[in-house]
Amino acid sequence: MKNQAAAWKEEGRRLPCLSVILVGDNPASQSYVKSKGKACQTIGIENRTIVLDGNISQDELLAVIEQENSNPEVDGILVQLPLPKHLDEVSAIDAISPDKDVDGLHPVNAGALLTGRSGFVPCTPKGCMAILEEAGLKDLSGKKAVVCGRSNLVGKPLALLLQNANATVTTVHSKSPDMKKICSEADILVAAIGRPEMITGDYIKEGAVVIDVGINRVDGKLKGDVLFSEAEPKASVITPVPKGVGPMTVCMLLDNTMEAYRRHEGLEDSHE
Ligand code: NAP
Repeated sequence: MKNQAAAWKEEGRRLPCLSVILVGDNPASQSYVKSKGKACQTIGIENRTIVLDGNISQDELLAVIEQENSNPEVDGILVQLPLPKHLDEVSAIDAISPDKDVDGLHPVNAGALLTGRSGFVPCTPKGCMAILEEAGLKDLSGKKAVVCGRSNLVGKPLALLLQNANATVTTVHSKSPDMKKICSEADILVAAIGRPEMITGDYIKEGAVVIDVGINRVDGKLKGDVLFSEAEPKASVITPVPKGVGPMTVCMLLDNTMEAYRRHEGLEDSHE
């Protein structure tokens, strides 16, 4: 991506631009926004971080999103979630122009994924698939995949992506009986439940690929959803927390922003 951005600059083109909207002063959100800005800097693309007061009204927030939608210099827009409780996240996401929705959360992009059309894929699930591919697992024919969690952000889109890659997919959630048994049969196990270290060794099949999406703050430390010390000896491949899925998520955000730029500029994708 760095080389591509440098090449565009050399050709005298404008650079891709990601606009990140942060409402309020949630420390975790501030840190995520900071790392996104830093990542843009690292690969040499533009970043606009718009920090809004935590007491802003819904209409004021929607006006800022609209302003970014109509700014021709902006390729990608991300509203950092969660929003303060008095604001409606669904209508904020729906207000983002689908062709700038680099988080892939707008119903147009969610629908595109569901129906196999081209759109923006949410960054965390896309990052999980990139990790699998890097581990030599691109075609998942014959593999049993279990996704723990069914959120719009992670679980649901990831289950679709795994299915598209030919895995046989089961999704489990808080109402699933026998979760441990189902997980222990998985060749690929993804934990995205937000429950610190709930996935212990007995959830894991010998030789399984384990992807830990969870990010939980416990006593000032980051913990995954998987108990790494028990899972690691059984897994053939496992992602740590921190420094596993998190950085890949940021990477995929940049990838989606580059894709948005290519579409806006009518350029071919040269990196696939
Ligand atoms: P979410 O919206 O809260 O969804 C959690 C899902 O887990 C729900 O489907 C819930 O089931 C299920 N669940 C909760 N407790 C469970 C239990 N005891 N047993 C089985 N299933 C359970 O969370 P999310 O946004 O998907 O995020 C999940 C985790 O990933 C969080 O720790 C989050 O911080 C992390 N995350 C990390 C990244 C990254 O970049 N690494 C990105 C996004 C999220 P129900 O549907 O039945 O309630």
